[in-house]
Amino acid sequence: MAAIQFDNVIKRYGTGPRANQVIHGVSAEVNDGEFVVIVGPSGCGKSTLLRMVAGLEEVTGGTIRIGERVVNDLEPAERDIAMVFQNYALYPHMSVFDNMAYGLKIKKVPIDEIRQRVDKAAQILELGGLLQRKPRELSGGQRQRVAMGRAIVRQPQVFLFDEPLSNLDAKLRAQTRLEIEKLHRDLGITSLFVTHDQVEAMTLAERMIVMNAGRMEQFGTPEEVYHRPATTFVASFIGAPPMNLLAGIEGVRDGAILGIRPEHLRVVASGGWQLVVQTVEMLGAERLVYGHLGGPQGPWTIVRMAETEAPPAAGQTLHLLPLEDRIHGFDAATGLRIEA
Ligand code: ADP
Repeated sequence: MAAIQFDNVIKRYGTGPRANQVIHGVSAEVNDGEFVVIVGPSGCGKSTLLRMVAGLEEVTGGTIRIGERVVNDLEPAERDIAMVFQNYALYPHMSVFDNMAYGLKIKKVPIDEIRQRVDKAAQILELGGLLQRKPRELSGGQRQRVAMGRAIVRQPQVFLFDEPLSNLDAKLRAQTRLEIEKLHRDLGITSLFVTHDQVEAMTLAERMIVMNAGRMEQFGTPEEVYHRPATTFVASFIGAPPMNLLAGIEGVRDGAILGIRPEHLRVVASGGWQLVVQTVEMLGAERLVYGHLGGPQGPWTIVRMAETEAPPAAGQTLHLLPLEDRIHGFDAATGLRIEA
């Protein structure tokens, strides 16, 4: 196992006037044995960052270390990593066993040891009965487990996951998430996991790197990112529905944005902020209430109400009080968190 260190990493695609810089100096240290999720919207550069660790993209500037070694110029095969892709990348004409064994055969690992490692991985992933099947005879979830099995048998220093769950349906995604978590508990291999899905990030990460437009906006535990988002971007990207970001309302000074999550607004009998209800969404355990705060021109605001509270009607005025210790402040010009 090994730590991974990013030191002012830069990536440009193309050269000269057509060059397009997509990673703007990322520095971060992933601890040995840690599970770190890189999360952000489509196009923010998370796959590029992962692919530079894998050696599938050149590093334009800065350094990436795996353990003690700078890996910038090493071939993928020399990096002691194993990658799990979104599209599984299995060989269709090979059995499950051969798919899992292939990388080891190339490395000329003795056949007895290959059998042992494949059997162990198959056992961990409950693929034992499927070893002679071809990928087309498997469900999507099983194929993804084979792809993970192929990574496990290599006993790498580092696992790299590139949106491995995005081709699975919601139920299977949740189940596979738990399997990956268990796998990490059992094997403890340093892992980088890329996803655009903040729920996946929150549930899987020991720490997460939140990316936006090629920059790292925050690197922290799910608790830290939720409770102390470093920027308005992080505040609105992590948490669903997103944090309300309120400017120009009573009690908030010019140049500041007040952030309050929908679950931290309380409906009270009178006083507080007024919200004229426009829409109510019933989600089962809770209702999401939408409207403008403080008048028809006020900021669009979401309130999360428990299903057990009296449901408001469209057109009704609600009185809201924010939970004092859950209020966030941001600088309107920079988007940066203002520490209280
Ligand atoms: P993400 O994984 O967050 O969706 P990517 O890392 O795939 O984002 O892409 C980051 C940016 O780099 C995007 O603007 C994308 O268009 C650009 N990009 C990705 N691959 C290439 C490439 N091979 N050539 C040029 N630009 C690319």
